[in-house]
Amino acid sequence: MSIRGKQEYKTMSEPLNIKCVEPGCDIIFEFSVGSQEYYAKRGFPHPKRCQTHRALKRQRIEEHNRRKNSPFNSENWQDKRGQRTSDREMLGE
Ligand SMILES: [Zn+2]
Repeated sequence: MSIRGKQEYKTMSEPLNIKCVEPGCDIIFEFSVGSQEYYAKRGFPHPKRCQTHRALKRQRIEEHNRRKNSPFNSENWQDKRGQRTSDREMLGE
């Protein structure tokens, strides 16, 4: 008889090595299997930047948003930082 275990979802089984696209940056970072699944589920394209440049880019976006919203609303700012932490945990960084 056939011995069939649970159907395994094996779409991506290996981490990818991606080179950062920022000029002058030669960092090759690992795009882990967990992250690949996370990105795939959300329909995100693969990351193009190393963690440092991703953080820099995110900082720029946050600064932009902060200026757009009320700059005096510090509670709102703290909230965003909390979200960022959980986001990072989900990405497995
Ligand atoms: Zn980089």
